[in-house]
Amino acid sequence: MIEPSSTDAVLFDFDGTLAPNLDLADMRQQIVNLTVKAGVPSNIYESLYIVEVIEAGYEWLEARDADQAAHYQAQANQKIIDIEMAAAEATEVFPGVKAMLTGLRQRRIKIGIVTRNCRAAIEAIFPDRKKFVDALHARDDVTHLKPDPRHLLDNLQALGARPEHSIMVGDGALDMQAGTALNMHCIGVLTGSNDTTALRQAGAVRVLEDCLSLHNLVI
Ligand SMILES: [Mg+2]
Repeated sequence: MIEPSSTDAVLFDFDGTLAPNLDLADMRQQIVNLTVKAGVPSNIYESLYIVEVIEAGYEWLEARDADQAAHYQAQANQKIIDIEMAAAEATEVFPGVKAMLTGLRQRRIKIGIVTRNCRAAIEAIFPDRKKFVDALHARDDVTHLKPDPRHLLDNLQALGARPEHSIMVGDGALDMQAGTALNMHCIGVLTGSNDTTALRQAGAVRVLEDCLSLHNLVI
């Protein structure tokens, strides 16, 4: 059985956890290409995630040419939305996810989704989500994105859940890092972009093949 002994909520990452992963490496490359074209030096963005590449590129350009910065930001943000929406059209949640979520809710456990994807893509991939999920915090719903724990905190607050009595489930190191920062019980899944070692190093106390058996493990 999985601690905590009385679980308030289970928070799920979306891509790679409840649904097939986006090609994040390709998406990042397309944003980097735009950023290079805008003249931003590589040391400004080289170690950053996609959204943070755009923020850093915007800030660098803004100090030099506000109009160009605004144009770059609008173009880059639209590009990630276009990629997400194109992928969403061909994607559904993994078979068995809805039964697992129903099983958790039957135990009066609240369900949250915390994702760096946009809300419109989640709604396209999981149109009946309201039957299974109590609160969704997508990229456009929050000021601070995970690995910033405030992304998870917004969701926990909407659910009325205590972090130390809640579980964070995800395929990403940043999911485990954000959950660990809040003393949540972090469970990694192998349906996305990381292996067991990477997830454990990021704070997972347990790693599962997928999330489909979760309702049988949580007490
Ligand atoms: Mg993920």
